[in-house]
Amino acid sequence: MTRRRAWQDPAWGERRLGAPPWSPARALALVPGLLLWTLPQTLVGLALALWHRARGVPWWVYRFGPFVFLVVPASPPASRGISLGLVVISESPEILTHEFCHLYTALWLSWLYLPVYGVEYALLGHARSPHERLTERLERDTRWAWQQWGGSVR
Ligand SMILES: [Zn+2]
Repeated sequence: MTRRRAWQDPAWGERRLGAPPWSPARALALVPGLLLWTLPQTLVGLALALWHRARGVPWWVYRFGPFVFLVVPASPPASRGISLGLVVISESPEILTHEFCHLYTALWLSWLYLPVYGVEYALLGHARSPHERLTERLERDTRWAWQQWGGSVR
């Protein structure tokens, strides 16, 4: 018997209901600035993505609102999903909206995001962290849909 892998869930390809993301051209135009703005966390995310890639996990590209994300359908360490700059590691498509919304709450902190979130996490725990609560609120209120782009990157 073979175990079903996280990325075999057909719901990855479904588009959540809501406003469509920005056009590919407009969304891609933002990528260089966002990469620089979120560089430390995006680099950590890329390192994790490469670790999973070496173990055969595909990479997918998603659009959500004005953003473009690299999504790795796998379980991150000690959680169901983690958002690191423009990289999201998620074991299920059910939490993609939440993970994508983390970028909004991370934007105002730029390179301070990881240290600030780390301190919040250490002092208050995951659920009581102000950034986590803000992200949950955005997740509830967002009207953006997400959309997988072009299938897996191989
Ligand atoms: Zn979260």
